[in-house]
Amino acid sequence: MRAMAQLAREFSHDELRISHEQNVILPHVHRSDLPAVYRTLQATDLATANIGLISDIIACPGMDYCALATARSIPIAQQIATRFAELKLEHDIGPLKLKISGCINACGHHHVGHIGILGLERAGMESYQITLGGDAGAEAKIGSRAGPGFGADEIVPAIERLVLGYLELRSDPYETFLQSYQRLGAAPFRAMIYPAQKKAA
Ligand code: SF4
Repeated sequence: MRAMAQLAREFSHDELRISHEQNVILPHVHRSDLPAVYRTLQATDLATANIGLISDIIACPGMDYCALATARSIPIAQQIATRFAELKLEHDIGPLKLKISGCINACGHHHVGHIGILGLERAGMESYQITLGGDAGAEAKIGSRAGPGFGADEIVPAIERLVLGYLELRSDPYETFLQSYQRLGAAPFRAMIYPAQKKAA
């Protein structure tokens, strides 16, 4: 926060904006100052170029900070971001809005995530429901529930299966996750999430 405040002082007329997508915006930065801003961000480990990618997640405070929560959000978001950083596939996957809420109040906007995750409580355990195909863009759409929820240790592998499956399903490297979903419908994506059901069928 001190580093961001210093950047605002030096480059953006003392102004910082926090976006609903949980990113910090430095407005008014002169183009010629961009390299200096980037170097400062690099020095403070804040220069990850992931806007609009799978690790640029909206996650509500969840059970770590919110008294209303039925499940944790932040650790799930961190695990997903870490996993896809390890796989080094983020840029190949391309634009993908993943949003996580820790209860039905939906502060993480999971309904309009291309992939949404809703944390619930089932029999005293956290359970995470996946929704698919939501869109907060011009064609606004509420996502559809994919099927039964996953435990806290199962949700990240399920998201990995889903996203790696999308890479196989897309028509070309420029077809986004949402476009693939809209073209193919839910069935092949559900089959990636629930491979046992796929075998049984
Ligand atoms: S969605 Fe639920 S858990 Fe998350 S911040 Fe809102 S009220 Fe809290």
